[in-house]
Amino acid sequence: MKKSRFIPAFLLSAALLSGLAGCKKETEYYNPNTQTSSVTETQTELQTEPATQASTEESTEASTEASTEESTEASTEESTAAPVVSKELAVGDIWYVNTDSLNIRDYPSTDGNKIGELYRGEEVRILALAENGWVQIHSATMDGYVKADFLVSSPDQVDGAAADAAASAMPASSETSNANTSSSNGHIVCIDAGHQQAGISEQEPNGPGSSVMKAKLTTGTSGVATGLAEYQLNLDVSQMLQQELLNRGYQVVMIRTTNDCAMSNAERAVYANESGAEIFVRIHANSSNDPSVNGAMFYAPSSANSYLSADVISASNTLASTMLSFYCSTTGLANKGVLQDDNMTGINWCTIPVTIVEMGFMSNPEEDQKMANPEFQAVIAQGLANGIDAYFGR
Ligand SMILES: [Zn+2]
Repeated sequence: MKKSRFIPAFLLSAALLSGLAGCKKETEYYNPNTQTSSVTETQTELQTEPATQASTEESTEASTEASTEESTEASTEESTAAPVVSKELAVGDIWYVNTDSLNIRDYPSTDGNKIGELYRGEEVRILALAENGWVQIHSATMDGYVKADFLVSSPDQVDGAAADAAASAMPASSETSNANTSSSNGHIVCIDAGHQQAGISEQEPNGPGSSVMKAKLTTGTSGVATGLAEYQLNLDVSQMLQQELLNRGYQVVMIRTTNDCAMSNAERAVYANESGAEIFVRIHANSSNDPSVNGAMFYAPSSANSYLSADVISASNTLASTMLSFYCSTTGLANKGVLQDDNMTGINWCTIPVTIVEMGFMSNPEEDQKMANPEFQAVIAQGLANGIDAYFGR
């Protein structure tokens, strides 16, 4: 019963989007308008629910649930019988908690495990929109899922005079202060952690209108000494870079936050294009048959690239060379230069400046072990963020 109430909304929206659990989508190109409308559908459905159903559901909640949460969720589900302000949630936006206590869950449902808690007035960033009125969020303490019904788009909309007091009583956090819109630096960066756990052998054109077909997604390489999978290294570094950029006042759009994200390279590029991001940074690690080869190398399109505008080509080369320079000076890794390549699907589908970051060689035992070290990964994130700062003239 508890799950079935979401089925109509799920069926309606499943054909439109299916991104869940840290991946933006699986079968269709991202469309912000589509996602917004699906949230609205869910809210409409909730509004028509008999108030008694909510309380019935609550009684089926696991007995281990915190009682404060049951009352919060029950009261909110009942209150959705009243008109609800239409939400224009978009990935990358900052929204505010408008309830005394809001559970963060590991899955977009009250069936998900509670992994954290938010309080009235706290800020969250929208990472992804689920299909049932839940959203994936990034908060000062963690990422997870919350019900969109509990969020409002500005601090002014948070109910009650206690909001300011509650917000000021929140645990101190560098991100919380920097996530404040007043300290935002106004720039939006999209990060793609390259690959995922499984490849996608189906093919797609390597550029709009191209007859050259390439696999939608390859599995990447792995560490010759550590055995670490590239997709995991890419994700670890990408999430460190995300945090570093948030701390510096950027808005960050993540293509994936889990290793289960069946988006092709073209789909990732299109998602980045439509996300509102100004630049697209794709995180990868390199491999060579020669174990002595080491150092960093970033990809950019050449001036002969027929898929990208001259402006995007130029800006992509500036982005790649600027980031590579700061990356190498920060990490101490060898600078192998910017490689111009017009065969990269994830570049050719872009309409915003893009670079592929090859952090170092996992085929080099020393560099592999270095990159697998979380302390060095933090330096990598610093170096990439320094390069992004420099690109934006900060
Ligand atoms: Zn790769």
